[in-house]
Amino acid sequence: MRMFSTVTDYHVHMERGPFSFEWLERFLEQAKKAGVTDLGISEHAYRFAETRHLLLNPWVEMKQKEAKAAGHGDLQAYIDFLLEARRRGRPVKIGIEMDYMPENGQAMKQFLAQYPFDYAIGSVHWLGGFGFDLDEMRDQWTKGNVDDIYETYFSALEKLIEDAPVDIIGHADVIKVFGFHNPPVAKKWYERLTPKIKASGMAVEISTAGWRKPVKEIYPAPEWIRMLVEAGVPLVLSSDAHRPEDVGAGYNEAIDLLRALGVTRLHTVKERTLSLAL
Ligand SMILES: [Zn+2]
Ligand SMILES: [Zn+2]
Repeated sequence: MRMFSTVTDYHVHMERGPFSFEWLERFLEQAKKAGVTDLGISEHAYRFAETRHLLLNPWVEMKQKEAKAAGHGDLQAYIDFLLEARRRGRPVKIGIEMDYMPENGQAMKQFLAQYPFDYAIGSVHWLGGFGFDLDEMRDQWTKGNVDDIYETYFSALEKLIEDAPVDIIGHADVIKVFGFHNPPVAKKWYERLTPKIKASGMAVEISTAGWRKPVKEIYPAPEWIRMLVEAGVPLVLSSDAHRPEDVGAGYNEAIDLLRALGVTRLHTVKERTLSLAL
């Protein structure tokens, strides 16, 4: 395994601990160990009270209450904390993971413009009221039809690609998370979406989180990564860590896979602008 000279991890959640320098330090220490040279924190937007106009449902309401009780419910406090960390010399980028809902593109754009984010990750987690990647909603998979769920997911992702004011597409084929597969439907969508992603200018994250989920496969599937590489789509590498020890998890294998597909450099992002890494 040969590392890239710049190794990103832009999809990292601190939510299981406080916005404290001690807690952040543990993520930074693990980044160093794992060879990550460019770390960004990307809290879930839905946890913050300031995003209630973008997404609200009973599950989100519950999570906001939990976040508030734990002292993490305030977006401005999150931003101020990361700005202060940077002032203290900690190399950390300011990100956010946004749930894309087809009706809220414009409101999302206005929201993002109000804060000094380095990047926004756009993710589809909700198909209407179905949080398809949540353990507590897993039984809805067995009641529904996998073909239909796949079609609905990829249609929502297509709208995200066409419309969302984000920089990075999060875990693009996360619909497979529990191992409910539909290869023909998925393949049709990989082919349809790849040129649209290229045209959008967005980056796709290569997410090692899939290896830690029941599906046990990287996001996106290697077959789709190959198409994205061939199309020249910008790529970033991320872990979707929810605890310090998962920062940079699976990176040796992921970098081997990317190198085998001909990738020699990742993209980086700063102040909402992507560029090819050195
Ligand atoms: Zn996500
Ligand atoms: Zn995430």
